[in-house]
Amino acid sequence: MTQLRAHAPGRVNLIGDHTDYVGGLALPVAIDLGTTITGSASTGVIELQSEQLGSRMHLDVPVNQQIGTIEPSWSRYIAAVAREMDCREGFTGTISSTLPLGAGLSSSASLELATALALGFDGSTLELARLGQRCELAAVGVPCGLLDQLSSAFGREGHALLIDFATTSIEPIELPGDIEIVIIHSGVERTLAGSAYGERRTACERATALLGPLADCDPNALDRIEDPVIRRRARHVITECQRVRDAVAALRSNTIETFGRLMVESHASLRDDFEVSTPVVDALVEQLIAIDGVHGARVTGAGFGGCVVALTRPGAIHDPTSFTGRGWKVRASGPASVELITD
Ligand code: ADP
Ligand code: MG
Repeated sequence: MTQLRAHAPGRVNLIGDHTDYVGGLALPVAIDLGTTITGSASTGVIELQSEQLGSRMHLDVPVNQQIGTIEPSWSRYIAAVAREMDCREGFTGTISSTLPLGAGLSSSASLELATALALGFDGSTLELARLGQRCELAAVGVPCGLLDQLSSAFGREGHALLIDFATTSIEPIELPGDIEIVIIHSGVERTLAGSAYGERRTACERATALLGPLADCDPNALDRIEDPVIRRRARHVITECQRVRDAVAALRSNTIETFGRLMVESHASLRDDFEVSTPVVDALVEQLIAIDGVHGARVTGAGFGGCVVALTRPGAIHDPTSFTGRGWKVRASGPASVELITD
């Protein structure tokens, strides 16, 4: 029997967080951890077993239920994709993932993209990413930017992706061969992420209304913002976009120590100005950057817990699980894709 295997990578953001929804810059990497959906087309129903969650979903297509009421709750992502694609065919199979779920490495975006490919998505790569973004909103009500979905859709082996969210342009930037990307789970489950995320977005919108697009804004203009909280949020975005530019320049000139310093500055900005870190995450970053051969480390993704990413000399961190029990060495990997398998 002919089967399909759709795979979509997760991502780790090296620098440039909370910049996507304000038209800023980011430098993520698609990673060799991801979501794989294996199965075959069926008629009128989608049936998928999640190996990670040990549960099964069943959904009649075309989808005419309210997405927010569908159980199990993880199947809302599947239902959102099926509805967006106006899927009528159906699919039966399994979902397996090498990503930690809910840790800030984009298991949700990778699930959305793998699902779309399994269900026969045949649009452009950019349309695939946009579809995933719409499904995130439909499934869980998160008005996310495009960072996660673009990273998964456009991943390139051995490269980070310089994304300009103002123009949705993506430029692969080659990574040096003599570095390792290490991800450590802080052990802190992300809490309050949804409501605080919305609050941060609103603050950035208010700052943009006062100053214009933050990505190109002169930091001196910050004095024009009276509200100290809005000013700090805007300062994070303005300085973070500049750090992304500087980080790309550092990669191009192979000054990896500079790249590491920028990561540490990014963490401080997310901690102090954007206030999306936690004391446990801060302590983990401190612990990592004190290790010989660690160029830099920072919280990655939306924050409020989740994972820390470190860039290191090869072998500087021998065992990524030795800190909290959960950690990974990852490689920059290729994009979401689908293949036919016959057995
Ligand atoms: P992140 O995207 O950072 O991992 P999210 O909270 O955005 O965190 O997404 C995690 C959610 O995505 C899970 O709670 C679950 O609903 C869904 N999900 C991701 N991967 C899987 C999977 N393999 N099986 C079932 N649900 C999954
Ligand atoms: Mg997610």
